[in-house]
Amino acid sequence: MATPKKVVIVGDGTAGIAAANKLRFSTTLSELEVTVVGNSSRHFYKADGVLIPFGYRNYRKSVRPTNFLLNYGIDYISDEVIRIDISQRVVFLRSGKSLVADYLIIATGNRNAPEELPGYEGEAKHFFDLQHALELREYMKGFNGGQIVVGSSNRSDAYFPTLAEFSLLMRDYLREHSLDGKSPVVFLTPNDEKSFTKFASLLSPIMEKNGIEVHKKAEITSVDSKNREVVLSDGQKVKYNLLVASPPMRGRGLISDTSALDQFGYAKVDPKTLTVGRYDDTYAIGDSQRNTIFRSAVSAHRQALFVSSRIVADCVSGLSEPEFKDSTHGIIITGRNRAASYDGTASGDISLGSESQGNFLIRSYSADTYFSSILRGMI
Ligand SMILES: Cc1cc2nc3c(=O)[nH]c(=O)nc-3n(C[C@H](O)[C@H](O)[C@H](O)COP(=O)(O)OP(=O)(O)OC[C@H]3O[C@@H](n4cnc5c(N)ncnc54)[C@H](O)[C@@H]3O)c2cc1C
Repeated sequence: MATPKKVVIVGDGTAGIAAANKLRFSTTLSELEVTVVGNSSRHFYKADGVLIPFGYRNYRKSVRPTNFLLNYGIDYISDEVIRIDISQRVVFLRSGKSLVADYLIIATGNRNAPEELPGYEGEAKHFFDLQHALELREYMKGFNGGQIVVGSSNRSDAYFPTLAEFSLLMRDYLREHSLDGKSPVVFLTPNDEKSFTKFASLLSPIMEKNGIEVHKKAEITSVDSKNREVVLSDGQKVKYNLLVASPPMRGRGLISDTSALDQFGYAKVDPKTLTVGRYDDTYAIGDSQRNTIFRSAVSAHRQALFVSSRIVADCVSGLSEPEFKDSTHGIIITGRNRAASYDGTASGDISLGSESQGNFLIRSYSADTYFSSILRGMI
């Protein structure tokens, strides 16, 4: 009997878990060994991060043990990857062990680099991971009003719509707590990416209708904590009492062949195959690479399904796979009980549907679908 091929997936987030589960669904144990190595023992559904600071979501409902999310027949190694040799397909672990694979899937996401934005650390707040979302929740409990500035650094690769969601939820939260009269909300839109700019212009009318002051193409270049003001890319300064901003972000690096990395440490992929550099058996998916309309769980999931089918086609079914076609969709919260759906195409065009309470309900409970079906590889 032929020995099974080995797939090692580096990263235990949205993309890594979805890819592992899909591979396991599509192959037998004798066809493929599937191993996930990662260092998050608990998986947080990040889309809920925006609801937690306002007390609109109990964080316990947004977290599951990672090994519970992996289907039967997947090896899960809890360790830190320190280096990936993609020419030999060897993954080196902090514990001293190494893993050799026939196929590698890099799904390490990105990392926050707050130290790269002068004045940011210790001053700005955010909700991009569970710890910071909970800290912001505590802060909001004691917030007595003042100008709130929501924005993004010039090196942020964050899922942009969530900052708009935060601003709109903030307006309703302030109303509920009778703080709206003394708490203007200022929204600073980022500059650098086509799709973000398009998103910002689609969402601006909704934000302005809700009394949010929108500054276009205004990235934060530094934070002056003494004077409590942010300095923008065009030199303007904006005062704040509360600053909520996404930090700068970086790829994880890790790949020993640095020609396969861009200047920010993200894997360089072929957009049609999602293979890394010149290596046919190594893929990078999700936030670990930037060849996508914008980084999102929906895109990470789509990429995970695509790469899984390619590997199955290559080593089991023999069927050839079509090229990857990028597109995205989702639901954006536009207030305490409102949300709108959106669609994005590969060319970066984005369309926004109308707001409804139904969309809000779907979005509010999306963690359930995420944990039970999307991550499981059932959709
Ligand atoms: C606040 C917020 C709201 C969002 N809302 C939405 C939304 O509404 N809709 C949407 O589609 N997307 C949303 N997103 C984006 C979405 O969450 C991300 O795009 C998605 O989680 C990316 O998945 P990933 O697997 O690539 O990365 P991650 O989920 O970051 O996973 C990477 C994993 O790799 C592990 N890892 C990293 N380095 C190592 C190492 N050296 N060794 C071992 N393990 C390692 C990490 O521990 C982590 O578990 C949101 C994001 C945020 C932050």
